[in-house]
Amino acid sequence: LAPLYLALLHYPVRDREGNAVTTSITNIDVHDIARSARTYSAKNFFVVTPIAKQQEVLARIIEHWDHGAGKSRIPERSIAIGRVCIASAFDEVVQIIEKQNSAKPIVIATSAQRREEFEAWTFERGRSELSNTERPVLLIFGTGHGLHDEVLRKVDVILEPIAPESDFNHLSVRAAAAIVLDRLCA
Ligand code: SAM
Repeated sequence: LAPLYLALLHYPVRDREGNAVTTSITNIDVHDIARSARTYSAKNFFVVTPIAKQQEVLARIIEHWDHGAGKSRIPERSIAIGRVCIASAFDEVVQIIEKQNSAKPIVIATSAQRREEFEAWTFERGRSELSNTERPVLLIFGTGHGLHDEVLRKVDVILEPIAPESDFNHLSVRAAAAIVLDRLCA
């Protein structure tokens, strides 16, 4: 199976009007997605923000669960948090993965909407590609109102949305990450 990585982007993501903005780190996204990522054997979960102060917040969250009071209270959580990495940009994540594996990752974006202008994979296609490649695979998730086109233009493919026929399919990123992982990797 391909070496798997996840990234949660806090920049560049869309605001209500579609402009590129930076969103704030959320404690619950970090440790919930870390646990899902660990369950499906992801090598690392990158949390991406260009803002130094936000990187400090992230470092404190990691420290709390990996070494501090959180670890003594709930030790198993540090097993997952230990694979969380801080990055300042999407391009940096791609470079780190490429260096670790001596191969460029296949970058797969997620969205609640179908985007006809980008290449799309069904979950079935994604499953089969993942089991037939030795290249690393990077799954990326958005915050705010979703990943900005600036980053979608750089990815290899976008996954079909979860529940596209529903009259409401705007999942929390934590729920979306768990469903995507289960559909691709279980
Ligand atoms: N504030 C929100 C929260 O509480 O999580 C963040 C919304 S953010 C736009 C949600 C992200 O989860 C999207 O960028 C996408 O990565 C993923 N997502 C949400 N719904 C989805 C769906 N139906 N299909 C695929 N991915 C989805």
